[in-house]
Order: sequence, then structure tokens, then C-alpha cells
Amino acid sequence: MRVLKFGGSSVADATRISRVLDIVEAEAAKDRVILVCSAISGCTDSLIRIGGQRDAALRSSMIAALRAQQEGAGVLVRPAQIVRRLFTGEQRRQVETELDSIFEDLSAAKGEQCVPFGEILSTRIIARKLNCEQLSAFWLDSRRLVKTDGGKLVEELSYKNIRAAIKPHSQTRVFVAPGFIASELDGTVSTLGRGGSDYSAALYAAAVGADSLQIWTDVPGIMTANPRQVSSAVTVPTMSYASALSLAENGAKVLYAPTLGPAMSSGIAIEVRNSFDPSNAGTIVCKSDPAQVETWVGVTSTDDPGSGLSTLCLVSEAVRVPEIACERMLACLQENGVRVEGKPWREGDAYFARCSTAFIKEALCAVHREFFENASLGVIDVFLAGYGGVGRSFVSTVTAAAGRIASRTGKSIRIVGVSNSRSYMIDPGGISPEQLEQRLRYGKSAQNYAFIDEIETLSARKAVFVDCTDSHDIHLRYEGLMRRGINIVTSNRRSLAVPYAQYASMKATARENGVFFRYDTTVGNALPILESIAGRANCSDSIVAIEAVISCTLNQIISRYDGSRGPSFASLLREAHESALTEPDPRTDLGGKDVLRKLLILSREAGVPLEASDVEISPMLPPEFFDCGIDEFFAKLEAWEQNFIDLEDELDGKGMRQRFVATLRRDKNRPLGYRAEIKMQHVGPSDPFYWVTGTENVTVIRSEQSAPLIIRGAGEGTRLAASGIIRDLLQ
Ligand code: ASP
Ligand code: MG
Repeated sequence: MRVLKFGGSSVADATRISRVLDIVEAEAAKDRVILVCSAISGCTDSLIRIGGQRDAALRSSMIAALRAQQEGAGVLVRPAQIVRRLFTGEQRRQVETELDSIFEDLSAAKGEQCVPFGEILSTRIIARKLNCEQLSAFWLDSRRLVKTDGGKLVEELSYKNIRAAIKPHSQTRVFVAPGFIASELDGTVSTLGRGGSDYSAALYAAAVGADSLQIWTDVPGIMTANPRQVSSAVTVPTMSYASALSLAENGAKVLYAPTLGPAMSSGIAIEVRNSFDPSNAGTIVCKSDPAQVETWVGVTSTDDPGSGLSTLCLVSEAVRVPEIACERMLACLQENGVRVEGKPWREGDAYFARCSTAFIKEALCAVHREFFENASLGVIDVFLAGYGGVGRSFVSTVTAAAGRIASRTGKSIRIVGVSNSRSYMIDPGGISPEQLEQRLRYGKSAQNYAFIDEIETLSARKAVFVDCTDSHDIHLRYEGLMRRGINIVTSNRRSLAVPYAQYASMKATARENGVFFRYDTTVGNALPILESIAGRANCSDSIVAIEAVISCTLNQIISRYDGSRGPSFASLLREAHESALTEPDPRTDLGGKDVLRKLLILSREAGVPLEASDVEISPMLPPEFFDCGIDEFFAKLEAWEQNFIDLEDELDGKGMRQRFVATLRRDKNRPLGYRAEIKMQHVGPSDPFYWVTGTENVTVIRSEQSAPLIIRGAGEGTRLAASGIIRDLLQ
């Protein structure tokens, strides 16, 4: 005999019921079956409300609504609709008549007596449907068979009743029995407690000495954590009765705790399986093998609403040194910024810790990561701001390179929050890249940096805030994040090109709070420019000069421009503008504003507290080009073409080229001891800038002690930016 139990969500609509029937049919082909079902999900809640309603008119309208369509626990309970979908013609009329009589009985019932009707409804419908399918099913009235005394099960009597009820039907393949419901010795209706259908199934199984007890539910078995809280939870293939009992008693909803008793004492294994994925084996709960090795089974929690505290429970098997497990749990909670109330403690193979309910999800995720996810991997949690070109590329590169990152650095990067300019979403359990876009679309409003506000409430110490935005004021939020122990990696140049005092303050705050603040991609994208400068400036060598050709936009245009032999300067600029290679107003590039930001960052990295006003900029065009509208600007530029041609011819004659160069050079006569300028320079073939093509960048670093360092390479591209950000993260 096999006992199959289906929960409320497995029978919630006609399609799901059909799926149940398929499973039953397959099992019935192998052996006789007792099918135990819960009420349609939400139904028991509605019935409890109906039972508690004293106003007769309200009560009958609630009953009518339950039959037709009723919202219960957020789910629609629609027995009438299910019947319409499952049956036709004469059969439908018969079932509807039966429904009428069930609802009549319900109308006559009072208080708690209303509660059992959910299971009666669902099992009567299913039994009827099985009969239509030529699987003649026999309905067992659990109220008569399962007996309670003062709410407590009377075990032997119940077993005897069940056996006696089944015995005369030796030819019957399928029995259908309502779960949850029972009766007192005096005959009044009772129940086995909320979630009690699992228990009913175990009682039927124990009574008949079933070979198999299958609990079909809506999750893929008993998992290492509740997948709604910890998205990286996985199914546990087998566990002992004791472990399952620990999990069930301490918050796991998947199995009703008393179910374990009858199964354990009669030695029947419990298979917990997913009715939405019947081919999956799920979890087998059975007697444990004494020779087993130390295992972590799962982590769960219970809330104590009165105190605002929750108790986290980590269940293990065969752990040899329990003290270490307690310490490890405490340490990982503390490292993740979760305050533990009192000391963690142990009861048998279960370890407990109390913390604020507000942080229980973080606590579960932290413990899950520590004990269940590849233990040797250090997980870096990332809050990603900005989901444009660079942000997207970052996510896809992290995903594509995950294996390599893990094997070479022992680390893994996990996105736990993401925001664009419109919306944001946070999930401490991790956001899978496939779902990211969609979850972001349905996220919360990102107005006024609500994303950062929420991160600040999370106590997500050790996480990294990655700024891939182009925002001019997001840097004002950096220090708040740093004070909460959150590291920062940014590719947003504007955040660094702020007045020096603000820059210095961010750096100091990072240092004081022991977090890192990295922005290597703000100059030269993934090229190792800033780290090379810092390496020298911070290590007893001092910078004499930095010369840099770092405007990808201008390099691209200037290196393609060939005087009268090719397209006009204006048309090249227009093309770059249209393909978004320039800033929205291309004069930001031409006027040197973008290069200025980069020069500020370079100089400060070299230890020079440069301000924008210290930099002498000679734009490549006269002032009248900068104070007009954009169309007029392009017109003027066309008219200026002859000047470009003349210059190009002159330079060609001398074997030289022009390059837009930013320089910081030591100069004793200047207040800072350095002179900073940005201007067009004419360079010959012996100069490294002569050979720059396309969006390449070249930076020359001259220092006192060493020969010049020349860094040349691609300075543009979201893919490169992403790899630079990843390098900053992993450093
Ligand atoms: N229908 C009952 C409840 O909602 C029993 C069960 O679903 O197991 O608690
Ligand atoms: Mg249940």
C-alpha cells in the first residue's frame, strides 16, 4: 500500500488537480493507494472566519462567496469553478448536487464544526473525478476513523478503525481520505491542528504498514532553508527522522512536526516531493545511518512576535565538536553585522541563536552561506547602482566568469541589490542574473536614492556598493555607506572630480571605517594607470610628471582626421556624437572638461591636491564656439574646416601630429609645486603619443627614482570597464 498526501496548493485549481490525478494514476498502477488531501489552500482560513461569524446574514454571504469565489489567505478558493472545469454533463450535475448538500451541512454547522468542510470538499471532488476516470475510488470518512481525546490523538484506536475500514474493500485500488479532520471519542468533530494533513497521512500509513509515504508539496523537497528567504537553498536528498523533526519543530513549514512520530515508530520512510515536478526525487526522510559523516542539514527560524526576536536554528547530523559549530555560527552572524542576543546554544544536534526579527533574513542567509555554500569560497555581496551599459556588462561578465573567478581567487561575486534611475530591488539571498532585469522592472521606486536608504538599514557589513552610474551627486551618499561598513567601487568619474576637500573626506572616511574605496576605472578604463601612480607616489618614489592622452573621444576623431584627404572635422565629430561616443554636448570633450576630471583624479592619486581652478585649459577652438547653441556650433565648425586643413598640412610637412594632452608637471614656482595644463600639443614620431590610434589611451608616468612608465591600451568599452570593476572588487 502507498500513501500519497497532497497539500492545499497542489489542489488549488482544476489544472493542479489533474496533475494530482496523473500522479495517483501512475502510483495506482504499481500498488494500492490511499490518497490524503488537504483543503484547497486558503479554504481552512475562510472556514475558521465563517465559524467565528455570529451575524447570520454575513455568515451566509461568506458561505456563498466561499463556494463561488472567495479570497482566502491571498489565494482564490473556487470549488464551483473547479467543478465546472473538471466535469461535464450529467457528471457535473451530480457533483453540483453533492456540493449543494455539503454547503447545506456547512450552513447548519456552528463554530469549530465548520472547519472540516475544506477537506471534505476537496476530497469529495477528487473522489468523484477518479471515479469518472475509471479508477473507482472509495472515500474514507476520516472523521469516523481518526480519533482524538481532548484534542490528542488516540493512536491504537485510530489504527484499528482505519484497518477495519479498509479491510472489506480488498478489490479497491484507490482510497481517498480527507486529511486534518478527526473526531473526539464522543463523536464531536475535531482536527489534528493546522497543517495536520501530513499527520493524517502518516497515521494512515502506519495503520496499514504502508511501503511508501509520499508527501507531495509545492517545493522541491525539504531544503537547506526556506527558498523564499534564501534563494540559494538546495534540496536535501536524505535526512534522518530526528533532523526532519528538528527542522519542523523550529520553523520549517514543509512538514508538520507530529507527522514524524508515526512514521518513525513504524519505520516508514517519508518521501517529500514536488507535485509541480514529479520526476524529481525530492527528500527521503528515514532512519539515519550511524556511520555517517558530519553534515549540516538545514537552517530555519521561528519568530516570537511579542519580543521582536527570532530564533534561528541550524540542524546538523553527526557533528563531532559542537563547541566549534556554536562559535562558527556566532562569528559568521557577527561578521555579517547581525547582533546576536545572548549566547548561541545547542540542543542535541541543533544549534540556536536569537536575533532581531528585522534581521532574520540576513541572519539566515549568512548562516546558509557559511555552512551550506561552498565553504572555501569567500562571497562578495554587491549592491549595484546603475544598470546601463557598464552595469549590464558587469552582471554578464560576473556571470560568465564565475567559474574562473572561483577557481583562481577563491571568491565569488553575488548581486544582492540593483538599481537603475527608476527602480531598485534588494534581496540579501542573491539575485540571479536571469531574473535581475525582470525583478528590477517590478522593483520599488528609486527616487531620491531610496536604494541607498534601504541598504543603510540592512547592516550588510563587508558588502560592496558598486557605482556604475553617471550621477553627479551620488558621491554625497558614499560616506554614509562607508560608515556602515560598506566598501565602495565606482566607475563614476564625477564622484571623484569633486572639490578636493570632499575627495579627501571620502578617502579619510574609508580609512577610518576600514573599508575600501576603489575607482581604478575612472581614468583609462581597465588600464592600470591609477594603481601605477599610487604605487609610486605611496612608496618612496615621487612623481615628477604625468602626461596623458586620455580622451577617447578626441583621440578617435583626431587620429582619424586627415585634412583635405578625408571627411571634415565637423562630420567626424557629428558621427561620434551620433554614436554616443561624445558627451551629450560634444563641447564637454572638445573644451577639455572630461579630460579635466581625469587629470584631477590622476593628480590627486599622485598626492597633489589639485582643484579644477588650478588647471590651465586651452580648448582646441576659440571661445565663440562655446557660447552658442549646438546647431550653430556645428555650422561654425564646418566654416572652420579650412583652419583644420591648414594645420594638418603644416603638421604633415613637419612629420608631426597633434594630440590633446593633459599634463601635471613639477614646477617650483607654482603654489602646489606642480603645474597642470590641458592643451593641444604637436608631437613627432619619437613621442609615444604620436602612435595613438582610435580610442586608445597613453599615459606616461615620470618619477624621481625610476625610468618613465608608459601605459598604453584600449581606453573605451563597457566590457573593459566591467573587468576593471571586477578587478577592483577582487583585489
Ligand atoms: N487544511 C488544513 C490547514 O490549512 C490542514 C493542512 O492543510 O494540512 O491547516
Ligand atoms: Mg502543509
